[in-house]
Amino acid sequence: SPAPTASLTARSDALFKRAQQVIPGGVNSPVRAFKSVGGSPRFIARADGATLTDADGQNYLDYIGSWGPMILGHNHPAVRQAIQDALPFGTSFGAPNEREVLLAELVTRLTGTEKVRFVSSGTEATMSALRLARGFVGQTEPGRKYTLKFRGNYHGHADALLVEAGSGLMTNATSLGGAAPSSAGVPPEYAALTLVAEYNDAAGLDDLMAQRGHEIAAVIFEPVVGNAGVLIPSADFLAALHRVRGAGALLIADEVMTGFRLSLSGATGLLGLEPDLTCWGKIIGGGLPVGAYGGRSEIMDFVSPLGPVYQAGTLSGNPLAMAAGLATLTELERDPGIYTQLERYTAALGAGLSDLAAQAGVPITVNTIGSMLTAFFLEGDVQHYGQAARADTAAFSQWFRAMLAGGVYWAPSQFESIFVSAAHTPADLDFTLSAAQSAFTHLKEP
Ligand code: PMP
Repeated sequence: SPAPTASLTARSDALFKRAQQVIPGGVNSPVRAFKSVGGSPRFIARADGATLTDADGQNYLDYIGSWGPMILGHNHPAVRQAIQDALPFGTSFGAPNEREVLLAELVTRLTGTEKVRFVSSGTEATMSALRLARGFVGQTEPGRKYTLKFRGNYHGHADALLVEAGSGLMTNATSLGGAAPSSAGVPPEYAALTLVAEYNDAAGLDDLMAQRGHEIAAVIFEPVVGNAGVLIPSADFLAALHRVRGAGALLIADEVMTGFRLSLSGATGLLGLEPDLTCWGKIIGGGLPVGAYGGRSEIMDFVSPLGPVYQAGTLSGNPLAMAAGLATLTELERDPGIYTQLERYTAALGAGLSDLAAQAGVPITVNTIGSMLTAFFLEGDVQHYGQAARADTAAFSQWFRAMLAGGVYWAPSQFESIFVSAAHTPADLDFTLSAAQSAFTHLKEP
């Protein structure tokens, strides 16, 4: 169906046209392009609370929250104030500053890790954690050079991790199809260093570890998957993950999406997992560019300047980004009731969507945990990539466009989580469900 009316998106359309002249695809990150759902992206002029306002002055109820960071909602007063307080003192020093210490103290205390290194994105966090794992394990066992990841998990865009990856790679399926690597430009020799197992398949993981465990430096995983849509780990899969350590590999939890979202101690805290290294991003920067990785001192001290594993960053520990992260985590710690509310609202949203879809005769399966939710347009359980990939993406796309026309900005991909924020209200949920009802109903019309 066409865009609502040309005039309502005139400015966004004009900006998109110009953007395409000077930016590949007109966007600086692929899933923003609306390529899989059709239509052209809205250019956002401002964001406040749970509302996005586009260049044409249209408002949308936001469920992407900048793809995760905005758990408190946009333009939160405490976060804005913290950035304003930091701003007059300079924006980057290339030398240590107090806020790095404060944020590192807060993160280690909340997550039970000993040391943390700040970087500027989730991609840097996972890439660095893997190098560290290889370096650390390689001290005594240099033969361990492989990484094991799970199909449909996404860990950023470092070469070795663009193998059977989720998120935009699942959404914008390319000519490479499902085979590893998932991106052109990744030499097969790099990709060959990454082994892939099926998520939620405990026996498969045990088998692979039995065969190749002695060659594996690290197993990296999303403790709750957001990047194939939401996938919830089963108890026996979590137990199999723990067994990985018995085989001498390090366990790396990628909490870039789930950290400080599913609880103050992340998905690992919620699920009782004890990884060797943890990666963070998104919420830890409160909407400014921050990533981090951390773990026991014994491992973390293997990083430069103490150790032989090199990792650095011009803008790492940036004072504005540290200020935004500190303010966000401080708010979450001050009012842990936020998590209870997020879970309650998200569960209500999930139940409402299931009911409305059933009434309209549209098969969907809703996976939800905490403030994360995916409505898969298919029938039956969704526990791993293969099941998620069966979703009716054409139906989803049509539904997405109807939601957008109804004023709800859902994630523009079937294979992503949406995020409920502390700024969403019961009235917002009602608004969403009424838009969803009409979107489901229209799906059934010829
Ligand atoms: N890991 C996970 C689990 C993620 O969800 C993402 C981003 N969606 C990344 C890593 C990469 O983070 P960034 O986009 O900040 O590089």
